[in-house]
Amino acid sequence: MRLTQTSELWWKNAIVYCLDIETFADGNGDGIGDFRGAIQHLDHLDRLGVTCIWLMPFFPTPDRDDGYDIVDFYSVDPRLGTLGDFVEFMRVARDRGIRVIADLVVNHTSDQHPWFQDARSSRDSKHRDWYIWSDKPEPDDPKGVVFPDQEDSLWQWDAQTEQYYFHRFYKFQPDLNTSNPEVRDEIARILGFWMELGLSGFRVDAVPFLVERVLEQDDALPDPHEFFADLRAFMNRRDGTAMLLGEVNLPYKDLMAYFGDTPLGNEITMCFDFIGMQRMYLSLAREDARPLAEALRERPAPPKDSQWASFVRNHDELTLDKLTDAEREEVFAAFAPDEDMRIYDRGIRRRLPAMLEGDQRRIRMVYSLLFALPGTPVLFYGEEIGMGENLAIEGRQSVRTPMQWTSGRHGGFSTVEPAIPMPGGDFGPDEISVSAQRRDPDSLLSWIGRLVEQYREAPELAWGSYEVMDGGDDAVLVIRNQGIVTLHNFAGRDAKATLSLDADGKVLADLFSDDQIEIKDGQAQVEVEGYSCRWFRVSDPETAP
Ligand code: MG
Repeated sequence: MRLTQTSELWWKNAIVYCLDIETFADGNGDGIGDFRGAIQHLDHLDRLGVTCIWLMPFFPTPDRDDGYDIVDFYSVDPRLGTLGDFVEFMRVARDRGIRVIADLVVNHTSDQHPWFQDARSSRDSKHRDWYIWSDKPEPDDPKGVVFPDQEDSLWQWDAQTEQYYFHRFYKFQPDLNTSNPEVRDEIARILGFWMELGLSGFRVDAVPFLVERVLEQDDALPDPHEFFADLRAFMNRRDGTAMLLGEVNLPYKDLMAYFGDTPLGNEITMCFDFIGMQRMYLSLAREDARPLAEALRERPAPPKDSQWASFVRNHDELTLDKLTDAEREEVFAAFAPDEDMRIYDRGIRRRLPAMLEGDQRRIRMVYSLLFALPGTPVLFYGEEIGMGENLAIEGRQSVRTPMQWTSGRHGGFSTVEPAIPMPGGDFGPDEISVSAQRRDPDSLLSWIGRLVEQYREAPELAWGSYEVMDGGDDAVLVIRNQGIVTLHNFAGRDAKATLSLDADGKVLADLFSDDQIEIKDGQAQVEVEGYSCRWFRVSDPETAP
């Protein structure tokens, strides 16, 4: 690869860090995180090696769906700061060489949004066609309800204009009609606005829903993929290095269309690997690497300028919707034994360290995997220190607790009681905090820092074409990515892998120690301790790192 490519296609080996301004740090002492607080903690992300921050929604909102119900796409929620604070945040991030992307939530608006208020005022209103109306619910309703425990239909009756409006999510989140050219223009305007203020791209929420054809007559509409191709083209005319990170939870064969059908990719730049993620949890539950290995073998290569995004956990529940019922039950039994830890019969509202009962060996092996998997790692705030969840908080909000900065009062998040309660006990700030782990070279934070360094020093992990090798032990996942070979042992017992490598006379140089393993007769014998990982570079014995 050429240096110009690696810097221009920066997302290919970025370290993405997702944070919610509301729960990151409180700068004005009202118990709610804000931009001023986040600015004071950007050095933590800089030290960690983060190259791109993904901001969760920070726009004005009635906050009935944690900010994903927006009333103004061109402003900052007053609880979180001002547009001035946002610009200052961008300046400080840029100073540290950190790019910023933000959630683009344009599948729907809040029902309080002035567009919807106007739309529902009369059938002839200016914004009527910005939303999706029907005289009756579609025949297959309520198939596809996203929150089945709280919504029993995708259609909500509007008494004033005597029609139903469509809402894929909650009934207070009417879907925008993206087949309307005026809506598409407005979405482009929103992108353009925030790009002028310095954003390097957007994480696109609920991608397949954004362009779904809801009504039967929609079949006459142009190809929905044109929407993303147009949006991407618009964005890249403004800034050639801006990117779109998409939430596309679909089987690989259906997902590929969202990268676009050109050799470089012309729609969503990076897609999360939801399939690989779900298979990883099945592998963890079974202590058997094969489910994940199968997914990685099956996973198509993205178009040339595109990329897979890897993740362990995110801000939502851990969705297991792509596993079979029996597989899902296995994961539930292992990591969410209590009913209260599950949600919507398909997900787990916990963070990884709690699911693994704090077992440091397994936690570190999983995060090693996050960086070793071919693609771009995306961290959710607090993962770098092993934060847990607070199950006392309802629904999927349980994993969105305040960042734990110190072991002191309120975890250093705020000078007053945080509006969102932190967990206590083994996962509370007294046990888990940034300040304590910074001083400890054996902490999870230090381990993640080393993984970030190795990942950045091995660009082939992100850029190369990989091969899942058979090491002869089902518990061990072996990935060769050009000169880098990684092994991850999903089982608690020690394992031995036999690797066939076409590199006689060379050695496997351990990237986390001084160890070297000879490659003899095209083979190397590698021992991997229980729940452990190893990273190697195929090297000449004399010049091994
Ligand atoms: Mg505040």
